[in-house]
Parts: sequence; structure tokens; C-alpha cells
Amino acid sequence: MDLDAYRRTAETFQTELMREYYQHYAGLKETFEIEPIYARADELFTRDAVLALRELDERAPGAGDERRQARMLLDFAVEGHVGEATKAVEEELARTEAALTIEVGGERLGFREAPVAQANEPDAERRAEIERAVLAATRDDLGPHYQELIESQHACARELGWASYADMCAHCKGIDLKALSEQTAAFSAASAASYPQILDPELRRTLGIGLDELRRADLPRFFRVVEYDDHFPAGQLTASFVATMAGLGTDVSGQPGVTFDIGSRPNKAPRAFCAPVRVPGEVYLVVAPVGGWDDYVTLFHEGGHLEHASHVDAALPFEFRHLGDNSVTETYAFLIQHLAEDPEWLSRRLGIDDASELVAHAKAQRLVYLRRYTGKLAYELELHGGGPGGAPEPNGANGTRSGWDALAGRYAQLLGDAVRIKWPTETFLADVDPGFYCACYLRAWALETHLRAYLRDRFGPAWFESPEAGEVLRGLWRDGQRLDAEELLGELTGERLDFGAVLADLGLSG
Ligand SMILES: [Zn+2]
Repeated sequence: MDLDAYRRTAETFQTELMREYYQHYAGLKETFEIEPIYARADELFTRDAVLALRELDERAPGAGDERRQARMLLDFAVEGHVGEATKAVEEELARTEAALTIEVGGERLGFREAPVAQANEPDAERRAEIERAVLAATRDDLGPHYQELIESQHACARELGWASYADMCAHCKGIDLKALSEQTAAFSAASAASYPQILDPELRRTLGIGLDELRRADLPRFFRVVEYDDHFPAGQLTASFVATMAGLGTDVSGQPGVTFDIGSRPNKAPRAFCAPVRVPGEVYLVVAPVGGWDDYVTLFHEGGHLEHASHVDAALPFEFRHLGDNSVTETYAFLIQHLAEDPEWLSRRLGIDDASELVAHAKAQRLVYLRRYTGKLAYELELHGGGPGGAPEPNGANGTRSGWDALAGRYAQLLGDAVRIKWPTETFLADVDPGFYCACYLRAWALETHLRAYLRDRFGPAWFESPEAGEVLRGLWRDGQRLDAEELLGELTGERLDFGAVLADLGLSG
């Protein structure tokens, strides 16, 4: 295999795909044409290409960049191979979902608008009504497509020679998913007693209900925190990000290849996103500012991705600029996102002198997310064949309706135990991140806690106003995703990723 040619084609594919994504979701182009992009690059993802890269990965030396590159290319090829195999059903899912409407109290509502409608709905009964309609549509209209998607993913993994989809992802991404699940389950156990004490007062203050009355339909409203809207005006959204980066010594407007797309267009996605088309030379941050805390949180998260991608050393090989462990880029995104709940930042940048309520709210929200993702990882390991019971397979001994029903039950049980509310079964195939992305978020939450503690220790609580702290970050960003989360932390502080640090950061240790 000609590796250099493979890398060149892969980079062209990645760039074209990301540019199509940017143009479609920024509302610049109505259609979303990925089929021809895949067609031009189809030799990247053949079974032969995957097997050749797997062999290369097996032969690569035990440590160092050659080994890292081999594993990243294998992961890229496997993901593309599975993507090719599931493209049709994914397009069918997207088409069905985009056209799907639900009926709530005699009114028609787009299926995709439901979470926003719930977040903006003050009446709990109406939120629950939206939820019932969404769950029925998920089960009846989308369920069969999701089942087909997951069966295809499992079949691909077996055809490529892995025992399960979970084994394939663990190998290609270099993440010990079972060990991570044990660590995060320990986190959940250790936070179990404090969880109601942290969440309950926040629920009572913002929604007027306690944890015992909370329903899943209320979560979007809880996360929306309307009462702080006045503190987070839309007009200051991008300016506060630019000022924050200036404090760290980066002039965002002078960064080559960085574009802030803030214009309003009819088909622009409502949620901010970052599109790294060329890393580092062409990176977009797309945002349609509406204001509110949630809007700041999202823009700062995506801004973290933007700064990471735009600072990557152009001389690095394709793999380290575009591929690698996404726990790393998520860490930088969470680090910058976290400023929107940092009392020091809220005071200095937005003039909020008493941020205690917002900080308490953010802490409760973070704990809900951490526990929910812990439950998701445990469940996805069962779904994808890595846990006890394995996954139901279409022609296997447990590939029966009752096999799927049992999984739906496990989903509701694991998620319900984690978040402590009655969790629905209907979303058991829809609420699944492709390629165990949930593991990247969990690792990123841990690594971000370590990194933030390191910056605070070295540069003080206002580290975000220190160009020297910025220099440390730019040094890390230059490296792209060459190192994975564990390696990066080891080189930075000599520590190992530890969810005990997250417990301590939430004030829950001991
Ligand atoms: Zn992210």
C-alpha cells in the first residue's frame, strides 16, 4: 500500500466532506451532497484497504509516532468502511426524521424542534405531552431504521474480523472501554449520595419541583436556565470570546484561516458548530447568536475546538492534524466552555459579581451529564456486544424480539439508575453515539479537570487573562491530536486520568 498516496486522498476526502458540512449547515447550500465525495474516495474504505492498514498496525513498533499514525489510519479506514455500509440507512433516517412531525394539543410540531420547544415551555404538562409524542414517533417511525443501522454496524465489525463492534472501536481508538466503564461506574457510585443534595435544590429553584417529581421531559427546560438570560446578551457573545482569547494572547481576528460566520440565514443551523475544513488553514465557527447562558456555553465550547484546530502545526502529518483521540479536542472545548461557569471569568468579563446561583446550577448540570454518560457507556457496551449478555444479532440465538426488548429494558434501567428518574425505553437505539463517542466525552471531562487545575495552580484563578497560560495552551494545540488523552496528561503533569479529580472538582471527595 502506498501510504503517502493514501494520506493525500484521505485529506482531500476529509476536507471536501467538512466543507460540504459547513456550507449546508451554515445555510449557504441547500443540498447536502456527500455521495459524490465518498464516490471519489471509495478506494480509501474498501475491505482490502482496512485489512492492509490492520496489518500495518499489527506490524508497527510498540511505541512512537509510527505506531500512533498506523492506528489512526486504521481507525479512519474502519469508520469510513462502516460509514459506506450504513450510508443508505443513515440517509433514510435523516430524511424520515427531517419530515417527521408530532401532534401536541392539536398543533403540529417538527420532530427536530421538540427539544427546543421543551426548553422554552414553562408548563410541565405540555413538556410531558411533547415527550410522549416524541417517544411514540421514535419507536414507530425511526425505530426500524435505527435497528437496521445498528445491525449493519455489528455485521461490519464481524466481517472485518472483530468479535464485536465494541471490540473493534476499543482497538481502533486505543481506548480500553471496559476499564473506562469501571472507572466511571466508580465515579457514579461515589457521587450517588450527594447527587440528590446537589440537584434537588437547583430543581426547586429553577423548575419548582424536586428530584422525586422530575421527568425526563423537564431536563431541556432545566438546562436552558432562562432566569439568567439578561446577564448573557446576544450582542456580547462573540465579543466576549474574542476578548477572552486576547487575554490569553491570541488575536482571533488576526488568525489566518479563521472565519466567524455570524450572519443570519434562513437555513442556518440554530446551534453553533465548528467546521475544521483544513487543519490549520481553514476553520469556521458558525453561530446564530440568540443570547442566554446556554448560547455562551455552546459558543465557548465550539470556540475551544476552533482555537485547537487553528493552532495546529501545519508541518504535522495528516493523521495528527485531522485524526486521533477526540477526547483531546473535546478537552480544549470543555476547558473554554467551562469559563462560562467560572466565577472569576463571570465577574471579570460579564460583570456578574455574585455568580453563586449560576455556579451551583452549572455544577448540578455537570453532574447530571457525567452520570448520564456513565450510564450510556455501560449500556452501549452491552448493546455493542462488549458487556454481559452481548447484543442481539439478526440470526443469532438471541436475535429475537425479546433480545431487543431486553436491551430496551437494560437501557431504561441503566440510564434511570444514573439520572434517578424514570427513563423511557423507546430511545434505546436512537440515544447511541456512533463509535463510542460517549467515551471521548467522559475522558475529556476528566482530562479537562486535570488541565484546568494545572493552569490554575501555575497561573492563578484568572489564568484566562495570562498570555503565559495561553502559551502553554498554544504549545498543546500545536500538537493536534498526536497524543491521546492519557499520553497528553502523562507528558503534562505525570498524572493518570482520574475521575477522583472530577469528584474533588465538584466538591464531592471524601
Ligand atoms: Zn465538542
